[in-house]
Amino acid sequence: QTSGQQQLIALHERTRDLYHHLLMNTKVGEEALAYLHGRGLSDELISEFKLGFAPSQRDFLVQIAQQDKVTAELMERSGLFIRREDGSFSDRFYQRVMFPLNDFRGKTIGFSGRLLKTKDFPGKDQPKYLNSPETELFNKRQVLFNFDKARNEIRKQGEAILFEGFMDVLAAWQADIKIGIASMGTSLTEQQIAAIERITGQIVIAYDGDDPGQAATDRALMVLAEHSRLNLTTVTVPEKLDPDEYLRKYGVTELQNLLQHGRQTPFAFKMSYRKKGLNLENEADRLNYLEAVMQDLAKVQSPVEQDLYLGQLSNEFHLTRESLKQQLQMIRQTLR
Ligand code: ATP
Ligand code: MN
Ligand code: MN
Ligand code: MN
Repeated sequence: QTSGQQQLIALHERTRDLYHHLLMNTKVGEEALAYLHGRGLSDELISEFKLGFAPSQRDFLVQIAQQDKVTAELMERSGLFIRREDGSFSDRFYQRVMFPLNDFRGKTIGFSGRLLKTKDFPGKDQPKYLNSPETELFNKRQVLFNFDKARNEIRKQGEAILFEGFMDVLAAWQADIKIGIASMGTSLTEQQIAAIERITGQIVIAYDGDDPGQAATDRALMVLAEHSRLNLTTVTVPEKLDPDEYLRKYGVTELQNLLQHGRQTPFAFKMSYRKKGLNLENEADRLNYLEAVMQDLAKVQSPVEQDLYLGQLSNEFHLTRESLKQQLQMIRQTLR
């Protein structure tokens, strides 16, 4: 690590501590703190994750940096500021609840800020979440939220739970599930998979229950299928909720139950997912569905698992196992 990178990390950690202080101890942070309490986060958790608040003032951090004699060059490289045409700086993050993003060793290398809408600050046309830009420290394809804190527990328990959002990771943490991690609002990257694979062979995908979340689950399964040593399961949160909303609505025990006992195999997930938008009363739809699902089933390695689902499909669609088996064999031959 170069001394330039160390300076950037120091700037990020000072910024993190300032935002955290504003949130916890000042009038400026009151509304943000009330918002987080309202979402069920305890002070203990807020401090553990060093959540913070970036005030609405556009030059809060600029002034601090100038007091601290941070050079313009370092300010520019940090990604924490936006440079105006006249060369002056303004803060990139304002009026946002701040989530520090850490590297695997726990060093803060970026932020994601969630817009805090208030009476005085409706925040129209602003994105809900804003991430640090790519810098020499921060590469969002590499970062996994909470990986630094979760990694020992993931090793110990032998599995990781992959969530879609930061708030879901925090909700799980409140429910004493400390193996939750999240990618950065992008689909899972090979770098992130490699990092997870190094510490566990078991991944539970628990994305949001809404349509985008389910589509993301399907995509993640496709990417992860290339990693044949990984043991994958999925959890679909009922009522299109995300895990955080599910915790709020049904409580800690129910979230724990869902994440523990609501797991499906990738094939079972696909069996229900492929039904979306089809009318299975309709013969053409039914055949299309079966065609797609049999293609998936042909890729299932375990003969026992295959047989289990053949049985289910044969019951559900009143088809003989024999015809389904023949279909599988045909697909197998084209795959070879
Ligand atoms: P909240 O519960 O605070 O409303 P969420 O985590 O449920 O947020 P989603 O809309 O489900 O938010 O998005 C999931 C994740 O995708 C977020 O946690 C964030 O990492 C990322 N994300 C969402 N919106 C954006 C955006 N506009 N730009 C970048 N990343 C985003
Ligand atoms: Mn979502
Ligand atoms: Mn969500
Ligand atoms: Mn949410």
